[in-house]
Amino acid sequence: MDKKQFTDELEKIDAVGKSTVELYNEISALALSYGLSNAGKPAEKNAYYLSMEFLIGRSFFNNLMELGVLEETRKVLANKGIDINVFEEIEDAALGNGGLGRLAACFLDSAAGLGLPLQGYGIRYKYGLFKQAIENGFQVELPDDWQSFGDPWSVRKESEARSIKFADMMVTAVPYDMPVFGKRVNTLRLWQAEGSEEARKISEYLYPADDTVEGKLLRLRQEYFFSAAAVGELIEKHIKKHGKRFDNFSDFNTIQLNDTHPVLAIAEFIRILTAEYKVSFSDALEVAKKTFAYTNHTVLPEALECWNAELVKKILPDIYSVLIKINLRQREELASLKCSEEEVTAMSSYSPYGFSMANLAVYVGKSVNGVARLHTEILKHALFKTAYKYFPEKFQNKTNGITQRRWLMLCNSELSALLDKTIGSGWRGDIAELSELNARIEDITQEFITVKAEKKRQLYDYIRQHENIEIPQEFIAYSQVKRLHEYKRQLMTAFAILEIYNGLKDGSIKDFAPSVFIFGAKSAPGYKRAKAIIKFINEIAAKINSDGDTNGLLKVVFVRNYNVSYAEKIVAGTDVSLQVSTAGLEASGTGNMKFMMNGAVTCGTMDGANIEIVELAGKENNYIFGAEVDEIEKLKQDGYDPIEYLSRHKAAVESLIDGTFSDGGTGCFKELYESLTVGASWHKPDNYFVLYDLQSFVETLLKINRDYKDKKAFAVKQLKNTANSAYFSSDRTIKEYAKEIWEI
Ligand SMILES: *Cc1c(COP(=O)(O)O)cnc(C)c1O
Repeated sequence: MDKKQFTDELEKIDAVGKSTVELYNEISALALSYGLSNAGKPAEKNAYYLSMEFLIGRSFFNNLMELGVLEETRKVLANKGIDINVFEEIEDAALGNGGLGRLAACFLDSAAGLGLPLQGYGIRYKYGLFKQAIENGFQVELPDDWQSFGDPWSVRKESEARSIKFADMMVTAVPYDMPVFGKRVNTLRLWQAEGSEEARKISEYLYPADDTVEGKLLRLRQEYFFSAAAVGELIEKHIKKHGKRFDNFSDFNTIQLNDTHPVLAIAEFIRILTAEYKVSFSDALEVAKKTFAYTNHTVLPEALECWNAELVKKILPDIYSVLIKINLRQREELASLKCSEEEVTAMSSYSPYGFSMANLAVYVGKSVNGVARLHTEILKHALFKTAYKYFPEKFQNKTNGITQRRWLMLCNSELSALLDKTIGSGWRGDIAELSELNARIEDITQEFITVKAEKKRQLYDYIRQHENIEIPQEFIAYSQVKRLHEYKRQLMTAFAILEIYNGLKDGSIKDFAPSVFIFGAKSAPGYKRAKAIIKFINEIAAKINSDGDTNGLLKVVFVRNYNVSYAEKIVAGTDVSLQVSTAGLEASGTGNMKFMMNGAVTCGTMDGANIEIVELAGKENNYIFGAEVDEIEKLKQDGYDPIEYLSRHKAAVESLIDGTFSDGGTGCFKELYESLTVGASWHKPDNYFVLYDLQSFVETLLKINRDYKDKKAFAVKQLKNTANSAYFSSDRTIKEYAKEIWEI
């Protein structure tokens, strides 16, 4: 099918009497067949991205754009009297929690865009990440039945279903293929569990905790289920082409493990080769060592998966045996390198705690990478320091990126058009050309200000419709949108807002340029403290938004159900990107990159990719504050007493307990207060140094507010960020993976 035929078919669609969802399905199906009809030949060597999560967002607009038919479709529909934006009613496919899942989606987009053969493997959850409602200021979780809109972008491949064996049941894994369009058509293959009621449960829910191991049987089943389906299929395909020899397996296949969730794929791979094809254990292990690579996403200890050995033995006895064998071999190898007992323990894939998925991945993986420069340094010198001592060649950095197709071209066509006009449209094909903007910034500040104002108008309009909060057009937008976690310090932002509010009330803050603070965040349902922070922010918002004294100066919005589609609007309409994690704890962040590319300045700590962002866009064009990693380390060693800092911020912090706000009688605000002042059995008081950095944070927010008044100078800072954001395109990241790890 060519473009003309597509348009002809589109024109034939009879829209009369059809619902939006029906039309969505019909047009998507047509676009899908158009896209697939132009799919090229399969590649000789492929890279496979195994990920428990793919946070895709809405496919409709993105796919039409990638197929080059978005504008035609818009026109044809307009002629039929339909505004293409009605399809915004179709909800996001939220098969992921946050950054890790969104990264996987950006990587697939970039690989297809670059024409590189990268195929994804994951789980087709019936319910994606919960839909968030806010009731009385509290988060309420509702099921996300994304398939209720139909799933026109997937093709069920019944004939390629596989059996996955657990000790107590057999499960059928049925693949659903989602095409990823670009210079080539790649595939995201999501497995759906079918069979008995128990079997089907495996692909029912996405775990909504992105930072802790549920430690549940079901989670273990999910991880094995999709890993086994993927490697089983890859081995079979290899045999079909090359016969039963595996010494050349890695010449055709390379498998990237996105965090520890798919690490059991290593054991399954060795199990199949040894048990089904009689390859010796040593040979199978050698092939695995050339095939798998591992990406670490977090240093938070609660997220480093360690599987209980008895549990593995009970439901996956053959995998248990393989894991034990791998560990014996690992110990032999480490002994021959003369590692001390302590060092062996540090690196061992099996210990009294269970099977360490991270240590297994580091041992077998041909490469181990962190996701920003600082993060990789922390892996080398702290988390995996022993492994780094013996196997330094395995360690690499791959700073994350985001796809400019969704996060600039699609979500900000206005800025994209300004770029076209200023530097030509070459950047659309080669993002590196964005740097040409540096020479033209002074010429286009006024036009940029107009574009930003338009994106803000669109955002505020959307917020008015969805949150029922009116934000005047001239308000500066400060945004903090990301998962809710103590280390990301939304609580610090809440306190800072209260300090500013109090300062406006008592007159100590003067000449304040009107501002809105926009939050968006989901909390894991079981994470009580994070949920208390959501309630606290909503209480603050209710109070401030209804205060006539400050109403014209300050507003606070907590947007409901933050997801990819909301993010597309927020990143384009924001002036100031808040990235304020405790130094050393945010591996990279990718939200920070989306904002940067759309021309927001970063107000942040020296953490994750913020460091590289300010290095490239200039410290003078961003706002860095707070303790750096060394200082945090020193505080931890010398002992940090938050009480001293508490006294400087008494009014804001004590509003948690002095009756200013109500927690609905749950006691959750008192618990939050005590987490800062007395700690708990599992952590010290103010474990994330919120009070320590609060003063400099407030000062920095106020400095930004003053600087903003010089509109032109501020626009220059914002444009410097856009002009230097090419490095944070996932095209750059994927090229590095392709060259330095995958060799595709
Ligand atoms: C980009 C993105 C994230 C990741 O944000 P961080 O600020 O890097 O944590 C999370 N959720 C959604 C919906 C996103 O688009």
